[in-house]
Amino acid sequence: MSQNFPAEAYAPNGVLWWLLEYAPDTKRRYGAEPKIAAWLHFNKDVGETFTLRELRIAIPTDELANSQEHFNRRLRELRKLGWQFRSSHEDATLRQDEYRLAVKGWHPGDGPRPKTSGKISGALRRRVLERDGHRCVICGVANGEPYPDPPQGTAVMSIGHRIPQEFGGTDDIDNLQVECKRCNEPVREEAGLPETLDEVYAQIKGLKRTEKSTMLQWLRSGRRTRSKLDVLYDRARRLNPAEREQLAARLETATNQQVAEP
Ligand SMILES: [Zn+2]
Repeated sequence: MSQNFPAEAYAPNGVLWWLLEYAPDTKRRYGAEPKIAAWLHFNKDVGETFTLRELRIAIPTDELANSQEHFNRRLRELRKLGWQFRSSHEDATLRQDEYRLAVKGWHPGDGPRPKTSGKISGALRRRVLERDGHRCVICGVANGEPYPDPPQGTAVMSIGHRIPQEFGGTDDIDNLQVECKRCNEPVREEAGLPETLDEVYAQIKGLKRTEKSTMLQWLRSGRRTRSKLDVLYDRARRLNPAEREQLAARLETATNQQVAEP
């Protein structure tokens, strides 16, 4: 490609966007994503391939990405800005470290970076929460409940996309679902050491057949269906405190069991 770049390839101070050290008129370091977007826009045509190595040489910044995984996260952010890439997962002709540019999205020469979150209105959010029972469809935790496993903490609900936005998922109610922050967050490094299949299966094999069957369904569908018990518990939780107390007393009588509050 020619090294004569059009005017939009240059920041207001005359430096190419991908060589810029600080964001225009600030003391903030210029981010890696706009740099990658600018470099790709002006140096690659749709259909051409690129690698992280190539970008590292072209874009002098220590925050570009120190691992392939970190870099994939940057590319996911760019997908929210309209970019589309193919990786070796979708295109068998690509090497594992190679990507093919499929669609160009926003780049700094287009003007300010568009906001990519916060598009879901409060009303839509409430409808999704109501429909899914204020409960994470992935792990089943309800808003305000403590997590049963480490790291401990109280569950906060957020709205996720069934088909992720970077794969063309929309903000239609049918594509939205309640997810707790922990399940919604794709980076789960803080969630402790991942267990091995053997460790997990050691516990799972002791489950009842019906429980195994339920777990199989959850795994296959990628979401936790709510049992009749979950649905009734959610209704019970919405009773006022006095009614909840009466309900607990009735259940104690029915089960002939006393359960103390924690
Ligand atoms: Zn969850």
